[in-house]
Amino acid sequence: MTTLFKYSSREYCHENTIVQLSDIKIGGPRIVIIAGPCTVESQENLMATAKVVKVNGANILRGGAFKTRTSPDSFQGMGEDGLKLLSEVRQEFLLPIVTEVIDANDIPLISEYADMLQVGSRNMQNTALLKALGKTNLPIILKRGFGCTVKEWLAAADYILAGGNSQVVLCERGIRTFEDSTRFSLDILSVPVVKQLSHLPLIVDPSHAAGQASYVPAVAKAAIAAGADGLLIEVNISPENALVDGKQALDEAAFAKLIPELHKIARAVGRLWCEPLR
Ligand code: PEP
Ligand code: MN
Repeated sequence: MTTLFKYSSREYCHENTIVQLSDIKIGGPRIVIIAGPCTVESQENLMATAKVVKVNGANILRGGAFKTRTSPDSFQGMGEDGLKLLSEVRQEFLLPIVTEVIDANDIPLISEYADMLQVGSRNMQNTALLKALGKTNLPIILKRGFGCTVKEWLAAADYILAGGNSQVVLCERGIRTFEDSTRFSLDILSVPVVKQLSHLPLIVDPSHAAGQASYVPAVAKAAIAAGADGLLIEVNISPENALVDGKQALDEAAFAKLIPELHKIARAVGRLWCEPLR
């Protein structure tokens, strides 16, 4: 048994954990696609983006209502109004929703609207938040801190698991290195490393690592080839008008082109495709 992490280790749990939201199972043979705008910015944009996401076969819609921005002067999200828009879209398109939680006090409010909660990279070691999430039974995406090792990430997952919540999906989103031609360096090797060390499902977010939409398809495909259980991709119907992360968002054409390519890669590595809810 390793010392840094325990509950997330393969020694502790021999069976792969499956995280389930309605009919969607993350961590099984099927690849799950989570897509949507970085941030909920308007009803019009969210509805139109959700339609593109749904039509092209994504399984879960993402969109931030509470954001952790590097600067306090940047747009911090629409808060509860954003959650309300997400839940409208959920009904309209039968898409489960994942949205970020940045404060343990917001968990009851967010869980009224969302099916899954995301812990962002900057909060991976916010142990008060992790402990509070451990007391819920909500499915959680735990993003890797961009300055953290795989073992520290698994130890962070332990905080949620130790509280009794087994529904944790890890998300690799790139780490900070000396390389400055991309926003972060996607640690593709963390995919086989995590798969070897842990029973938890793992998805990859190519968007925040790349920082630029044109790089996203290549690394999205690499992630599936490497053994990820799914992808979290930023998509926006109008990336040029987005207040947050527009540069890295795929537009409709790019997302529509990528999905059939991912199907091919998934098939080549013996994975199945998760059909969206109807
Ligand atoms: C996001 O998913 O929009 C986000 C802020 O990601 P990260 O926490 O990985 O930077
Ligand atoms: Mn973003």
